[in-house]
Amino acid sequence: MTPKFPLYFHIPFCVHRCAYCDFNTYSGQESLIPAYVEALRREIEIVARSAPRKMNVHTIFFGGGTPSLLSATQFESILKVARDSFDLAQNAEISLEVNPGTVTLDSLRDLRSLGFNRISLGVQSAHPDELRQLERIHDYFDVIEAVTLARRAGFDNLNLDLIFGLPEQSLERWQATVGLILGLRPEHLSLYALTIEQGTPYGRWAQRGLMPLPDPDLAADMYDWAGAELEAAGFEQYEISNWARPGKQCRHNLQYWRGLPYLGFGAGAHGCAAGLRISNVLRIKTYIERLHPGHLPSHYHFPLSPATVNQTQISRRVEMQETMLTGLRLTREGVSAEVFSNRFGVLMQDVFGREIEELIGLLLLEWAGPVLRLTKRGRLLGNQVFMRFVD
Ligand code: SF4
Repeated sequence: MTPKFPLYFHIPFCVHRCAYCDFNTYSGQESLIPAYVEALRREIEIVARSAPRKMNVHTIFFGGGTPSLLSATQFESILKVARDSFDLAQNAEISLEVNPGTVTLDSLRDLRSLGFNRISLGVQSAHPDELRQLERIHDYFDVIEAVTLARRAGFDNLNLDLIFGLPEQSLERWQATVGLILGLRPEHLSLYALTIEQGTPYGRWAQRGLMPLPDPDLAADMYDWAGAELEAAGFEQYEISNWARPGKQCRHNLQYWRGLPYLGFGAGAHGCAAGLRISNVLRIKTYIERLHPGHLPSHYHFPLSPATVNQTQISRRVEMQETMLTGLRLTREGVSAEVFSNRFGVLMQDVFGREIEELIGLLLLEWAGPVLRLTKRGRLLGNQVFMRFVD
């Protein structure tokens, strides 16, 4: 079977940097957007040209940052290069991350007519004070407006992102957010526990004792409660942090979790293909400089590009470990013993038998027929499980 590749385009611009965010994104650099779009187009062409054959693409994901800061013309020019360079499936999933307050009915209609068919909206909370605490620039009315406009523009596949476990957030307030969000009738929900990352303002404030830390037990209760609530509302959990209505799973992210190859373009983007894991230079200006037409050799070794700064050969052992790590995130699908042995030519139990037995003994993993997957308890303690599969 010809492999299918998802394409990820990183758009590292934000109006304001939220205090908890550790993504590769920058505020106050919007004047670089036109040059960045040109550089991105060039990177797509270079990588596609160096591929052994025209590659099949079944999903495209514009993430960030705030991709919705780009104009329809800029999206059109990027998608044109992607369509010319790759074999894009007729029914490709084309997703865009959108921040509430950055779209209008006209811009959403333009996006729909360009082929976008899935929108992921960064909602985070329905409470104004929590949104302020997170330093988000929108309020909940922007969320309602964005959802309403997206529906009017013809989008029937909406994801809403929420964050729980905020400092001093009560269970009741989290329940109120989930209740309001369900009222918006999304097709997909992503629920993330707040993590305090080093190097962010939140990380510095927490280190100096200037802000209370999230309560992990309360966050676990919030996760459990939300899981039950979403199942009762007709959603199926399919990944540790993701719920979807039947048939509305994110096809793009499924490819990551199944440990299959993908290509990433843009400043700080990652890719994994042809036995290599690669990542791009982080800074926007350097990315643009590296893709300046005057500096480019005619050929690169696939999947490298002038923006690549790190490349690691993935050994078979690492590939097997990563298959366990990412596959176990899939709460229903898990890791199939048959798929594993077909892919690697060895039995999963022969490679990871000791780890699997131990984690089953701790009630963190279970067999569901031929599929190994997390138990409900294991979903809460995922990191402890994943660590066992790393050397
Ligand atoms: S809008 Fe998203 S990507 Fe941008 S700074 Fe905030 S959390 Fe980070």
